Amino acid sequence: MRVQDGQPSAGPHAAIMQHWRIIITGCGTSHGSPPWGWRHLWSEDPRDHRRRSGAVLLGPAGEVILLDMGPDLMHQLRDPYATWRGYGYPEDCITRCDGVLLTHDHADHSHGINELRHVNRLQDGRPITIYGHRQHLDLITQMFPYCFDAAPDEVYRSYKPALTTCPVTDGTPFTVAGVPVVACALWHGPAGRVNGYRIGSLAYCSDAKSVPEATLPLLEGLDLLVLGMLREQPHETHMHLAAALDLVDRLRPQRTVFVHMGPEMRWAQWQGRLPAGVELAFDGLEMGFTVP
Ligand SMILES: [Zn+2]
Ligand SMILES: [Zn+2]
Repeated sequence: MRVQDGQPSAGPHAAIMQHWRIIITGCGTSHGSPPWGWRHLWSEDPRDHRRRSGAVLLGPAGEVILLDMGPDLMHQLRDPYATWRGYGYPEDCITRCDGVLLTHDHADHSHGINELRHVNRLQDGRPITIYGHRQHLDLITQMFPYCFDAAPDEVYRSYKPALTTCPVTDGTPFTVAGVPVVACALWHGPAGRVNGYRIGSLAYCSDAKSVPEATLPLLEGLDLLVLGMLREQPHETHMHLAAALDLVDRLRPQRTVFVHMGPEMRWAQWQGRLPAGVELAFDGLEMGFTVP
């Protein structure tokens, strides 16, 4: 199931805009789905088979930016469109990484960090920079110190990732692979803050229970909003359907795609019931956006 959408319509600055693509490589909540052991939540629909949260941004010159590095990262890089059936070479595999935009340190977004070592190997040892909030970068550095230790190490040498970190500030543009990116604060309920990212006409906002008023101006005028939405019922740390639709109503993006969904959100049941311009993602969904 590979979906290639049309590029957004050309605006007045089309001549200087670059066309990028985003692949939703995982749109499941922290356990992935469908979960085993709970038959009532099982689904045979491949659109309900969701890896843990993540996305890949692809630039016109082959640039690759990752959004998060969750526990399914190897599968997401080998098979970004979730179409590989386990035999034959996976032609669509991702073999490069120009940077990782980290939303936060939770396991479902960061515990695939070790898989980046293979990407280091594929790009001749070139280190990979992880951009994020200082607090989240400090936490992953404490959890995975071997990934950030540049000193020669007889045990891990050539067997560990080569990574660096770069803390970013809310609202201040920084550049990854030549593209300006803006981080913004989102509120993960009692779990604290997470980073959302604005890249041109795209915003990626996962694991938000709410969006602070000060962040809203950074999310105006979007062609595409990728938004974490867990389920129909309210949840302590994640946005539920009604809250997500309220946010869409305020921001009015051209198109909104829900990710980080629980197994209760069955694609076939919900897709036809959402307002125009709002849809559920599935693993492998590819869409276009523009960057200045
Ligand atoms: Zn999460
Ligand atoms: Zn989280």
